[in-house]
Amino acid sequence: MRAARYYDNRDIRIEEIEDPTPAAGEVLIDVAWCGICGTDLHEYLDGPIFCPTHDTPTSLTGETAPVTMGHEFSGVVSGLGEGVDDLAVGDHVVVEPYIIGDDVETGPESRDYHLSPGMNFIGLGGAGGGLAEKIAVKRRWVHRIDPSIPLDQAALIEPLTVGYHAVERSDAKAGDVALIGGAGPIGLVTAAVLKAQGVTVIMSELSELRRQKALDAGVADHVVDPRSEDVAAKVRELTDGRGADVAFECTSVQVVLDTLMDALRPRGVLVVASIWGHKADFDMHRLVMKEIDLRGTIAYVNNHPATITLVEEGKIDLAPFITGKIGLDGLVDEGFDTLINRNETAVKILVSPSGEGL
Ligand SMILES: [Zn+2]
Repeated sequence: MRAARYYDNRDIRIEEIEDPTPAAGEVLIDVAWCGICGTDLHEYLDGPIFCPTHDTPTSLTGETAPVTMGHEFSGVVSGLGEGVDDLAVGDHVVVEPYIIGDDVETGPESRDYHLSPGMNFIGLGGAGGGLAEKIAVKRRWVHRIDPSIPLDQAALIEPLTVGYHAVERSDAKAGDVALIGGAGPIGLVTAAVLKAQGVTVIMSELSELRRQKALDAGVADHVVDPRSEDVAAKVRELTDGRGADVAFECTSVQVVLDTLMDALRPRGVLVVASIWGHKADFDMHRLVMKEIDLRGTIAYVNNHPATITLVEEGKIDLAPFITGKIGLDGLVDEGFDTLINRNETAVKILVSPSGEGL
C-alpha cells in the first residue's frame, strides 16, 4: 500500500510499504480521509518533536524513523483481529489516535490517561498512520460512528474532540459568553462545541478570511478585528460591562493572552489551548486581582463518544471546515505548501490515501 512517511525535518516521502495485518485485539481499517494538522506541519518545519529520529526510537513503540504520518482520520473496518467481536467489517469508524502504555488505566472513568508517561500519537510516534491506505489499530482506540456522518466530515471528529475537551476544561455552560483568541482550526472547532452547548461566542482574529469563515460556519456570534477594535472594550459592550465568562487562547501569541486576561470577568476561566514554544510574559498581578482560573488543555480523554454524539445529532456541521481535498502525491507540494504559506485561505485539507472520492 502507499503511505506518507516521515524521515526527518523537511523529508516526508510517499512510499510503497507492506499492508498491515490486524494482530489479536486489533481492527484493520481502510482509511477514507485523513486531515493535515498543524502538528504535522511542526514536525515538517521544526521537528522531529513527537516523531522519532532514525536512531532515537519513540519510547512506547520502539519505532525509529521513518514512521507513517496522519492522526485525524476516518475509515471503514476491513478486518478484525482475534478476539474483536463488537465491530463488523463495513462499520464506519474514527480513531482516537493514542499510543499509551499497556499498564495505564484507560477505562471509561479515567480522566488522565492522556497525561501518562511516554504518551504519543498514532501517526506521529509510530503505530502506523492515517496518511496510508490501511492501518491496524487497537480496539480500545476505535470508535464506531453512524454511517449517516459523511466520512470526509468524520475525519474532523479528531480535531473537534480537541475542542470538546478544551470546552470541558472551561466548565462553560449554556448562557455563558466565551471569547476565543484565534480563528484557526482549533479556535473554530472550540467555537463549534461552545455554540452546540448554547454558549455565546465572540472571536478575535486578524485574518478577514478567517473571521468570515467563523461567521459563515455559524460558530461565532460576533467577530472582532484586534487591529482596528479594542477587543476587551467590545466584549464589555456585548456583556453589559461584565466581561467574558470564559476565554480560550488558541494562538500562542503574547498579546492575545493579555487581551483575554483583560476581557475576562472577575473569577472568569482562561483555557490555554495552544502549544507555546516560548515562555509567556504573564501578568500575574491581574490574575490575582481578578481571581482568574488559568487552565491548560491538551488533546482529549474519554471525550470521543460525546463529541461523536454531537455530530450524529446534527448539532455541529463539520462541512464548512473542509477547504480542500487532495491525494497522497499532493501532500507536501499542495497540502503542506498551502497551510504553511497561505494558511488564512484554508482550514482543513483532507487527503484521500487511496485516491477514492477525489
Ligand atoms: Zn492534530
